[in-house]
Amino acid sequence: MEIFQSSRLRLTLVYSVIMGIFLILLIFLVHLSMDWAMFSEQAQEISDAADDVAEAQAYHIHHPNAIVDESRYYKNTNDRLFFYVFTPEGQLLDFVRASFRIEPFVLEFMSQEKFEGAEVQVFDLPSESGRPINVMMTCKVIQIDETNQIVYVGKDVTALYSGLQKATNMLLILGVIALVIASAFGHIMAGRAIIPLQEAYEKQKQFAADASHELRTPLSVVMASADLLLADPSIQEPFLKEVIGDVKSEVKKMTKLVSDLLMVARSDNNALKVKIQKADLGKLLSQNVRMMTPLAEKKEILLEGEDFRKVMIDCDEQKIKQLILILVDNAIKYTPNGGRVKVILGDADEQAAYFSVQDSGIGIAPEDQKKVFERFYRVDKARSREMGGNGLGLSIATEILRIHEGNISVESEPNKGTKFTVKLKRVLVK
Ligand code: ATP
Ligand code: MG
Repeated sequence: MEIFQSSRLRLTLVYSVIMGIFLILLIFLVHLSMDWAMFSEQAQEISDAADDVAEAQAYHIHHPNAIVDESRYYKNTNDRLFFYVFTPEGQLLDFVRASFRIEPFVLEFMSQEKFEGAEVQVFDLPSESGRPINVMMTCKVIQIDETNQIVYVGKDVTALYSGLQKATNMLLILGVIALVIASAFGHIMAGRAIIPLQEAYEKQKQFAADASHELRTPLSVVMASADLLLADPSIQEPFLKEVIGDVKSEVKKMTKLVSDLLMVARSDNNALKVKIQKADLGKLLSQNVRMMTPLAEKKEILLEGEDFRKVMIDCDEQKIKQLILILVDNAIKYTPNGGRVKVILGDADEQAAYFSVQDSGIGIAPEDQKKVFERFYRVDKARSREMGGNGLGLSIATEILRIHEGNISVESEPNKGTKFTVKLKRVLVK
């Protein structure tokens, strides 16, 4: 069933979107926390190194002759760490050089005094390869015996940042895989959830089909009995005859309703028997016009349309007759006495044939024009009921057209008239 398939797809889609948003958020938060952890770890190392360098500078000044083991204040670092110590005048006192690819940038940065305070900052330096080099730097001003020294400490953290980027990319790939698996899982679960609904729906459809089928027999018995009573010579009293007449007409309405319901139920169950063969649409139209003429005459309606030319189409003759009947019946029903109804066979081409039923009746308001094809929809309930309408005609017409791969359209203006146009395929591939 289409609605079950589309609900299943919708459920899966909603689930996937929610999962997708959740995964993106998760990956973003993991990335942020990894970034934060890495930054704080490295920043701590750099500011410790800055303290060590400051301490060593003070030691140098106080013990000018001491031989200092450079690795003492440099012990917990690696070769990516560098430092430069300047006097406020810009004289270089001590240093461990940065690697040659970043030194020019680092010196430039220091000369521009881009640092404020002792914060650790990360800079993206341009490189020849196009991928930026990430350098983390801090600056510390130390005071040793009335003189100031400025210590710059930094580290090339490119490898760490590219590692972080790779880890995030990996997470994204895993996220996409997780999303695909989750969507597939969601699709399977949605399918399972729908099974009981589908079963209940099937049962209900079967019930409607069985019930309407079973109702037909008793109705025909009542009908036959009413006919018998009417023919009975012993019943002469006019009142009784009238009552029996009423019974007959109600039973007639009910029989129509029941057979319409059966048709709808069968089409729901895909149990409509269809016999596609070649037929002349023109002939079917004229037959219908002839059949409906007495009904039109009762309302003094001029029913036009005859001598149609031959247009052969592939169709189930009975169903197309029923379709024409539904449209002509509506046209007569919803046109006041003295109006006009016209059946028109349109120009056919290789692919399609067209016919229209046009009336000068009450018309259909624009907002109702789509709804009239729904089951049990009647624009004016009271009037339609009076006329014996159940609101099933046009929905049956739609069903018949579905089988024939055709379509129907409506043009209407309230109080002016309505025109229903049907398009039928000429050749149906079975
Ligand atoms: P049923 O055909 O089952 O006996 P119905 O005629 O009420 O009952 P439909 O044929 O489905 O049901 O039509 C639905 C509604 O559309 C009608 O109740 C009527 O209000 C409106 N309608 C249909 N055809 C016309 C028309 N030619 N002119 C004006 N209104 C129409
Ligand atoms: Mg109708």
